[in-house]
Amino acid sequence: MSTDRLPVQSVPPVEQLTDIEYDVPESETPSHVCPYCDRPFRSDRYATVHIGTVHSEACSETEQAAYEEIRDDEEFELFTFHVKAAVTVFLSYFMFTFLYALVWAG
Ligand SMILES: [Zn+2]
Repeated sequence: MSTDRLPVQSVPPVEQLTDIEYDVPESETPSHVCPYCDRPFRSDRYATVHIGTVHSEACSETEQAAYEEIRDDEEFELFTFHVKAAVTVFLSYFMFTFLYALVWAG
């Protein structure tokens, strides 16, 4: 087995948040492009969130409404996640308390 060549590890590209510089591969055409700053996006949802956050002053009422709908959906998802997490914590707490009582009673 030769060890002179190590496997090339691909480093995931770091997302740039400050400079406006986008590298879209030749094989890909962005399905959505921001009408205000020409930033490419993979999905309609990402573009809508971008317009709603970055161009909230300039965007139209329809775009604003679409963004608010997505934001509300995500807030609801986050709320359901918090409820599930809280229920899990309480259930494990009571389970351990019950087991503790059972062990001491037995
Ligand atoms: Zn934009």
